Amino acid sequence: MEQPAAPPPLPAEAEQARIDALRRYRILDSLPEQAYDDIVALARQVCGTPQAVMTFIDEERQWFKAAEGIEGEETERRIAFCDIAIRRPDQVMVVEDASRHPLFKDYPQVTGPDHLRFYAGAPMVAPGGHALGTVCVVDVEPRKLLPEQENALRALARLAVQLLELRRGHLDSQRQLAERELFTRDLLRYQQQLERANTELAAEASTDALTGLLNRTGLEKVQQAQSLVPDTPYTVAVLDIDYFKRINDTHGHAAGDEVLRLLGEEIARAVRGGDIAVRYGGEEFLVIMPGTPLAGARTVVERIRAEFAARNELPMPVTLSAGLATGLAGRDDPEAIFQRADQALYQAKRRGRNRVQAAED
Ligand code: GH3
Ligand code: MG
Ligand code: MG
Repeated sequence: MEQPAAPPPLPAEAEQARIDALRRYRILDSLPEQAYDDIVALARQVCGTPQAVMTFIDEERQWFKAAEGIEGEETERRIAFCDIAIRRPDQVMVVEDASRHPLFKDYPQVTGPDHLRFYAGAPMVAPGGHALGTVCVVDVEPRKLLPEQENALRALARLAVQLLELRRGHLDSQRQLAERELFTRDLLRYQQQLERANTELAAEASTDALTGLLNRTGLEKVQQAQSLVPDTPYTVAVLDIDYFKRINDTHGHAAGDEVLRLLGEEIARAVRGGDIAVRYGGEEFLVIMPGTPLAGARTVVERIRAEFAARNELPMPVTLSAGLATGLAGRDDPEAIFQRADQALYQAKRRGRNRVQAAED
């Protein structure tokens, strides 16, 4: 049965939608795949033709995903039988003798050495109704297509679309996986930024701005985080500037601040890695020295006292007093040790200031 004159091409908008649907499968210019080859081989066997092809039609060409008995990868769309076939997505287009067909008789495959005579093509119709291409069979002799052969061609075209759908599902899930991975990476980076910002904030909140030493918050944090080795001695020193109120009153608050800053520097210079140096109050400082018995601690604090008093950046002569107390980690209550150090400081003040006093003395 010869077809009547060819139906017109799709309107531009519908054609664009068809192209978009085709592109979503990312099948064009893909490598050969066994399943598609199998469909074409079956088409050829069922129809008994020397040639069978699976073609996809894009803007300019028909591209062969699989082919038997035909050389090449693609032809111009302009001269493609399949381009006419996809204009009626619900029909298998059969051309029994192209040399006697009003449209196809002048096609170069018909007039030229290819000597095409017989063509039958079943459109591959995507779920949205778009015909993407065909599964077709071709012969150099005129012939007819039996109804069961036509049915088989339709079935093979449907199978091809099933394969395409699976392919798209696979590609989509791969893309989703990649997107999720990117999203996770972004999230992780964001989290790290947040953590960094938090750490900086925490450091700010734990540090005294004037001296750079720990403040009370910092001390609490360090005490929570650090456990002293049990039964080792540790010494607490409380340092307090002598007559500091006078400095403020005579030279101004800024001069007082400078004195505090200089003492902070001296303390930071004198302590060791494991020591904890804190600006505890206005002009009171605390140094906790884990693993340090009284004698060693006294040397450290004595050095702070002497070096500080000798600083020539001081706007006026300034001295400090300190009280020390030692205890055993795990045995003595830290608060009690601190109280003893504070008592010792009080004694140092009473005994004339500018001195280091130990609770045991
Ligand atoms: P003492 O020898 O007995 O310790 O005498 P003092 O004058 O140092 O004693 P007191 O503790 O009464 O005075 C401490 C002063 O420190 C009072 C306060 O105005 C001042 N002060 C507290 N914090 C700051 C600060 O951040 N900057 C300055 N410039 N002064 C401060
Ligand atoms: Mg004081
Ligand atoms: Mg003081």
